[in-house]
Amino acid sequence: MSNSIENMLRNKLAKSSLHVFDNFSDDTDLIICIGGDGTLLRLVQEFGFPKTPIVGVNTGHLGFFQEILPEKIDDFIFLYNQDRYSIQGLNGVSCYIKTSDGTARHIALNEITVKGLSTHPVHLNISINNSFIERFSGDGLCVASPAGSTAYNYALGGSIVDPRLNLLQVTPIAPMQNVAYRSFTSSILIPSNDRLSVIPCSDDDKTLSIIYDGMMSEYENITELSIGLSRKKINLIRFDDYQFWEKVKSKFL
Ligand code: NAP
Ligand code: MN
Repeated sequence: MSNSIENMLRNKLAKSSLHVFDNFSDDTDLIICIGGDGTLLRLVQEFGFPKTPIVGVNTGHLGFFQEILPEKIDDFIFLYNQDRYSIQGLNGVSCYIKTSDGTARHIALNEITVKGLSTHPVHLNISINNSFIERFSGDGLCVASPAGSTAYNYALGGSIVDPRLNLLQVTPIAPMQNVAYRSFTSSILIPSNDRLSVIPCSDDDKTLSIIYDGMMSEYENITELSIGLSRKKINLIRFDDYQFWEKVKSKFL
């Protein structure tokens, strides 16, 4: 289906004297992403959080990021040509990974999820801005941006956050709560400039999966993870009638 939508879009853009290029460069004015939210997440990774405005045509399933329905392509071209749109800047979540072998970094638009590799729970020392908070025991942690609050975060019982609030939401995944282990059971909200530090409690916890927007990398010998709101953001095109809570209502209720 996406192929025929792509062809239709190309024809309509050409007729309206907008030039379509197959390759992305720094002077590209607009990126059009055809697919679902997952397609947009992969585009953002592949293009390294481009500053160029992005508009999504939803052919996928949910399409929370995707602004245009295929049958509304004419309206999109009309409004775009008249500059009748606004830009929604969405910051990502960055994760610096320190291991005894070196460092790595991932940036996600929705969330960074930290989990163990096995079926055993992980034990992680959690600090916020170098203040020790707790020893977390459970399946893992999901650290979501406001944009990601409606994705995995929401399925974990986290809160939906209006993206005009710039904060980070740390949601526990199956936290253990008994006389042996004490972990927070609800989400923690932290301000945009603060960082969460995660330190494995024992050697068994030093091998972790770091999942960024659903893409997974495994790291061994982790000494510390430092997770914060990224300065990098994407710029999504929204049209005049865009209202965050209307979108939530139409996709969730
Ligand atoms: P997927 O398996 O197709 O994604 C799961 C669903 O999440 C899809 O319906 C997707 O929408 C939707 N989604 C993605 N980002 C969203 C957002 N910001 N707000 C609301 N819904 C959103 O895989 P995918 O499409 O590659 O998406 C990866 C994302 O899946 C991860 O970033 C994570 O948030 C989410 N995830 C959710 C669960 C869960 O809910 N239990 C578990 C693992 C991962 P589309 O149908 O339009 O693609
Ligand atoms: Mn998907």
